Amino acid sequence: MPNCPICGEEINHLKALVIAIREYKYTPNKYYKESHELVNDIILVCPKCSQILFTDIPSAEDFFSS
Ligand SMILES: [Zn+2]
Repeated sequence: MPNCPICGEEINHLKALVIAIREYKYTPNKYYKESHELVNDIILVCPKCSQILFTDIPSAEDFFSS
């Protein structure tokens, strides 16, 4: 298992925080989803110290595969 570069603890997973904005269409008495996520950012933090380690999945995959 890799170690967190900030706190040094061994970690087998990351905590993923997802920030999404969804667009809906509203007309009187109707409210429905217009499209998929407009913005979908991810922040991956250490589950032990909660510091931000990555902001994309490929970097996190490299971290676990190296
Ligand atoms: Zn940590």
